[in-house]
Amino acid sequence: MTFAILNGKLIERNQAKMDIEDRGYQFGDGVYEVIRVYNGKMFTLQEHLERFERSTKSIGVSLPYTMDQLKSLLLELVEKNNLRLGIIYMQITRGVAPRNHAFPEENVEPTLVAYTREMPRPKDELQTGVKTILTEDIRWLRCDIKSLNLLGNILAKQKAVEHGCFEAIQHRGQNVTEGSSSNIFMVKNGIVITHESNHMILKGITKDVILGLCSASGIPVNERAFTLKELAEADEVFLSSTVAEVMPIIEVEGKVVGNGEPGPITRKIQELFVNEIEKQCGAL
Ligand SMILES: *Cc1c(COP(=O)(O)O)cnc(C)c1O
Repeated sequence: MTFAILNGKLIERNQAKMDIEDRGYQFGDGVYEVIRVYNGKMFTLQEHLERFERSTKSIGVSLPYTMDQLKSLLLELVEKNNLRLGIIYMQITRGVAPRNHAFPEENVEPTLVAYTREMPRPKDELQTGVKTILTEDIRWLRCDIKSLNLLGNILAKQKAVEHGCFEAIQHRGQNVTEGSSSNIFMVKNGIVITHESNHMILKGITKDVILGLCSASGIPVNERAFTLKELAEADEVFLSSTVAEVMPIIEVEGKVVGNGEPGPITRKIQELFVNEIEKQCGAL
C-alpha cells in the first residue's frame, strides 16, 4: 500500500481526493517543493522546508504546521512508503472556497498534500550530457516563488521535448535566466557564472549547494546574469535541479558546447556534489 499526506494525515494514496473548488486546482494558488530521497534519506531537507516556508509567506498562506511537524510527517511518509530512491512532492494551496480571485474572507484552512515517487538518478545523462534549446522567458516577475503556476515553464519544456532536447534555456532579451525547472551555469576561463538569485529566477537548492561546494574548493564563481552571446562562447555549460543534479549541457540550440563533451569543471562539480549526497545520505 502507498500512502500520501493530506492535511496533516497519512492516508492511502488513492483515498487522497481534492475538492473541485480547491484554489490550487482553479488558480494555481499555491506553492510546492520537490525533495530528493537517496537511501531512504531526504537530501537538503532543512533547506527545502525553509524555502517552502518562505514561498508560503510570500503568497500570504500561513502554514498550519511547524517545521518540526512537517519534518516528522515527511519522515513518516518516506518510511511508510519504503522509499529508497525517489522524490517527495509536496504542495500547499490557499484552500477550498467559492471561486473568487480575491483571497477567501473567512479563515479557510490551506490544503497540504505530499506523496512520494520512486525515481532513479539520471545516470546516463549525467555521464553523456544533454541537449538544450533556447526560448524567450515569458513568465511573470516573481520567479523566486516556487508557485504552482507553471504554464510558462510547461510551454518552454514542451518546446524542448518537441526538439528532442532535455531542457529549454530561457532568456529575457539578451540575458539568460534559467531552465524550465532548473538553474543554468556557464564556465568561462575557469570561472563559474550563474544568474544571481533575485526575482527573475528560482533560487535552486541544488544551485546553492553547488555554490557552497565551489567556494569550499576554490572554484571561482560569479553570480550575475550572462548574455546569450556569452553562453554561445562558453567553455562549459551545465544545469542543476533536485532531480537532475549537476547535469552537463553539450548542445545549445543545435550548437555544440566546447568539444561536445562534459568539461573538466563540470565533472569536478559533479564529483563534489555526489560526495555531498553521500555525506548526507550514505553511499550511492
Ligand atoms: C525547482 C526549480 C529549480 C531548481 O531548484 P532545486 O531546488 O535545485 O530543485 C529551478 N528553476 C525552477 C523554475 C524551479 O521550479
